[in-house]
Amino acid sequence: MAEGFHGMRGRRIEDEKAKTLPQKIKYTAIRLFYILSLLWGASKVMMIGLVLISVIEGVLPLLNAYISSQIINELVTLFGTKDWAAMRPIIILLLLQVVYLIFSRVTSRIKGTLTSLSGEQVSSFILVRISKKTKEVDLSNFDLPSFYEKLENASREASTRPVMILTSTLSLFSNLVSTISFIILLGSISPFIPLAVFLLALPSAIINFKYRKVTFEYIRSHSKERRKMTYFTSTLTDKDRAKEIKLLHLTDTFVKRYLDIFAEYYKGRRRIFIREDVLHILVYVISTLCNGVFFLFIAYKVCFDGVKVGDYTLYAGALNSILSGIATMVTNSSSIYEGTLFIDNMIDYMNVKPAIVPLVSPPLLPAHKPHTIEFCDVSFAYPGSDRAVIKHVNLKLSAGKSYILVGLNGAGKTTLIKLMTRLYDPTEGRILLDGEDIRNYDVDALYEMFGIVFQDFSKFAVSAKENITFGDIRRPYEEERLRYAAKQSCADEFLDRLPNGIETPLMRFFEDNAVDLSIGQWQKMSIARAFYKEAECLILDEPTASLDPMAEAEIFRQFDELHRSKTTVFVSHRLSSATTVDQIIVMQRGEVIEQGSHKELMERKGTYYNLFTLQAEKYLENS
Ligand code: ADP
Repeated sequence: MAEGFHGMRGRRIEDEKAKTLPQKIKYTAIRLFYILSLLWGASKVMMIGLVLISVIEGVLPLLNAYISSQIINELVTLFGTKDWAAMRPIIILLLLQVVYLIFSRVTSRIKGTLTSLSGEQVSSFILVRISKKTKEVDLSNFDLPSFYEKLENASREASTRPVMILTSTLSLFSNLVSTISFIILLGSISPFIPLAVFLLALPSAIINFKYRKVTFEYIRSHSKERRKMTYFTSTLTDKDRAKEIKLLHLTDTFVKRYLDIFAEYYKGRRRIFIREDVLHILVYVISTLCNGVFFLFIAYKVCFDGVKVGDYTLYAGALNSILSGIATMVTNSSSIYEGTLFIDNMIDYMNVKPAIVPLVSPPLLPAHKPHTIEFCDVSFAYPGSDRAVIKHVNLKLSAGKSYILVGLNGAGKTTLIKLMTRLYDPTEGRILLDGEDIRNYDVDALYEMFGIVFQDFSKFAVSAKENITFGDIRRPYEEERLRYAAKQSCADEFLDRLPNGIETPLMRFFEDNAVDLSIGQWQKMSIARAFYKEAECLILDEPTASLDPMAEAEIFRQFDELHRSKTTVFVSHRLSSATTVDQIIVMQRGEVIEQGSHKELMERKGTYYNLFTLQAEKYLENS
C-alpha cells in the first residue's frame, strides 16, 4: 500500500512552498496516511485492536463522570435518612463504578502491551524495508554525502518515529472522542464555555506547532554536525581502527572533537527549549485565569439556576476533561506533525530510484560462454564531481583471454572494473558486452556473470564455509565445489586447521570460539569466494596484495588453468604476474596508454618497460 506514495518526493518540495494552513494540513495528512499505511502493513490485527481500545478509552471517562455525579446526587437526597433500603441505587452505582475501574485498568493494560508489541513489530518491519531498499539503490549513491544523510536519518528515525506517531494518533483519537462527548455535555448548560476553551487553546497550539518545526529545522540543518559526532564516537569503538587509535593516542583528540561539536549543538537546542517554555508558561497563566471564570460560572448555575450539586461535579469535571483533553490533543497533534516532518527522511530514502536499470524491455540475458567486453570512447566522472577519472577509453577484452591492468595508484583501474561490471554507468561513451550495450542486459543476470575480488574485499562475521559460499547463494551448497575453490585459492591449508573446520565462525564479534584470520588469509577467502561462483568472467582487483610470494605464485598457476575457459581480468601492481597473461593494459591518469603482450610492450620500451625494469631491479636488490 505504501508503495503508492512514490510522488512523495515531489510533495516534500511542494511542502516547503506550502505556506497556507490548509496546504500544510494537507501535506501532513498525506505523510500521516503514509505512515499509518506502513503500520497497517506491519501488523493489521494489532492496529485494529489498538483503534478499538482507543474508541473505548474515549467513551469511558464520560461514563465515569456520569456515574460519579449520579452518586453525589443520590447522596444529597439521602443525606441523613439512615435507611439501608434507600441506599440500593447507590450500591448499584458504586458496583458500576467498580466494574468501570476494573474495565478501564484492563483496557489500559492491554493497550500498553499492544502498543509495545506493535512498536517492536513496526520498527523491525520498517528496518527490513529500509535494508531491502539498499538492494535497489545504485552504488553511485554511496559516493554522495547527501545520500548517507538520508540513509542515516531514515534508519535512525525508523525505529522510533512511526511508533511515536502511532501512539500519538491513537491518543489523539481517544481524546477527541472523550472531549467531543464532554463538549456536548457542557454545551447543554453553556455553548459559550467549550468555544472559549477551544479559542484559549489556540495560542498554545500555535506555539507547539511552530516550535516543532523550529526543532525539526534545527536538527535537519545540523545533520552534518550530528553525523560528525556519530563518526567520532563510532570510530573510537571500531574494531579495525582500534590499533591505530591506541598507538597514535587519538582517543582524547576524537573525544574533544566530539565535545566541541556537541557543545555548539547543545547550546542551540537549549535556546529553543527555553524560548518555547517561556511562551508556554505565559499562555498557561492567562488561560488558567480565564478557566477560573468558567468554574465560577458553573458554581453560579448551582446557586442561581437550580443545577444540582452532583451535576456541578459533572459539569466541572467535564470542563476539566475538556481542558486537559484539548491540551493533550495539542501536544499529540504537534508531535504527529513533528514526526511526519522527520519521516520525510525515510520517505525520501524509500523513493530513491535506481538509475542502473535495463534500457530495454524485456532485458537481454548474457549467454553462458566466455564474454567479449568492449569500451567505446568511455569517459567517467564520479557522481558529484566534474573531474573525469576515465578519459576516452577504447578497449576490447576478447572472449576467453586473460588481461592485466597495470598503472600507478589512482590511474583509474578499479574505476574501469566498476564500469565494466555496471556498478556505475559511463558519463560518456558505451560499453558493449558481446556486441550489445551493457545497459540492455538484465542487471541481476549481469552481476551473476562476474566473479569479482575487490581490493577492499568484504569479511563476514559468519562461518568460514559461509564466507566462501556467499559467492553463489543462488545455487544449492556443494561441498566439492567449496573444496575445489579453497584449493585453488590456497585457502585449504588454513581452513583444514581451524578448530571446527569450515564450520568455524570467523571474526570474534559474536562467538567465543570464533577465529580471527590474518589479512592474507582473508584475501585467500575472498578469492575462494570468487572461485566458488564459477563465474564466466573473473575479475581480481589486486588479488595478491596481501599474499606471500609463494601463495601468489600458486594462485597465478591455478588462475592460468582457469582462464583458458573464461575472460579474466587482473589488476595488479606486481608486474611479475603480467608475464603470464595474454594482454597487458597500461593505464595512466584515466587513459589507456599502452596495450599488448609482455613481449611486445618490453620491445616498445615505453611506460610498461620502465615500470617492469624498475620492479625487477628492486626485486633483485631485495633478494
Ligand atoms: P586505481 O584503482 O588505479 O588505484 P581508482 O580507479 O581507484 O584508481 O581511482 C581513480 C581516481 O578516481 C582517483 O583519483 C580517485 O581519487 C578517484 N575515485 C575513486 N573512487 C572514487 C569515488 N567513489 N568518488 C570519487 N572519486 C573517486
